[in-house]
Amino acid sequence: RNLSKHFTISAGVMTKRTHVVRAVDGLNFDIAKGETLALVGESGCGKTTTTRLLLRLQDPTHGSVRFAGEDVHALKGAALRKYRSRVQAVFQDPWSSINPRVRIRDFVAEPLVVNENLTSGEVDRRVHEALDAVGLGPAHASKFPHEFSGGQRQRIAIASAMVSRPELVVLDEPVSGLDVSIRSQIINLLKDMQAEYGVSFLLVAHDLATTRYLADRVAVMYLGSIVEMGKTDDVFDRPSHPYTEALISAALPSTPGMKRNEIVLGGEVPSPLSPPSGCTFHPRCHRIIGDVCVSKTPVLSPDPAGHCVGCHLY
Ligand code: SF4
Repeated sequence: RNLSKHFTISAGVMTKRTHVVRAVDGLNFDIAKGETLALVGESGCGKTTTTRLLLRLQDPTHGSVRFAGEDVHALKGAALRKYRSRVQAVFQDPWSSINPRVRIRDFVAEPLVVNENLTSGEVDRRVHEALDAVGLGPAHASKFPHEFSGGQRQRIAIASAMVSRPELVVLDEPVSGLDVSIRSQIINLLKDMQAEYGVSFLLVAHDLATTRYLADRVAVMYLGSIVEMGKTDDVFDRPSHPYTEALISAALPSTPGMKRNEIVLGGEVPSPLSPPSGCTFHPRCHRIIGDVCVSKTPVLSPDPAGHCVGCHLY
């Protein structure tokens, strides 16, 4: 609720001036049990900071993250360890997330060893179950990462995230480092695991095709704020916010012989050191109304069906 992360940075050695960067500013969203919510937007829009706040790798400047009713950033000791086993993550690069000298058994077991008090036999049983669930047999437990392909290593990363039977998994670009031929296998594996275990996913993906296939709802972020949020089909088929329109039009495949109505965004994403006034998207907006866009910050408001848009057009 009202989740914000602001960083104070020094702007110059001589002037010693400081600036506040609003990496994430006033986010409000929920993730239901068994649901996948995707965060989309250009680099630097605040997706990664949001996931770090959820994973409790950073503290918010304002607002809170609540998990099953509890304020995550107030948890300590055993309650924090329990949270860390209930909320896991799968990151983009399976090579960098797996220590080459650690056997697969120990890598997959890490969340259990760190957060739970199990015997070695129980850990082995859970690791074998997790490897089975991702389509790799228990015989792989004694091997090293270099003995696996990129796709298999991502399966191992998913096994490690799922071994503690989490309720929420952050998927940060889970298929971007993989060959296109392998991506659909991993995406289908994630879908199957969600159907079987009822786990919720928070997905961060540049690839809108992956987002459309995996996500139940989508939140579109721009310069640290959510500008549109709704059911995946509604956002993709009937985007409302001008930024969402542009993002989706740029991702549509071109069809030979048909004119493609791509909306080309003007300019770069503004520097978060000096964000534009009013609607921060106004310098690039193809539907700007007038002074109101420059002077007044739009509020993210839901329609009766729960679809939210932060734009003065609505
Ligand atoms: Fe464009 Fe104005 Fe809507 Fe911002 S508030 S997206 S500038 S129309």
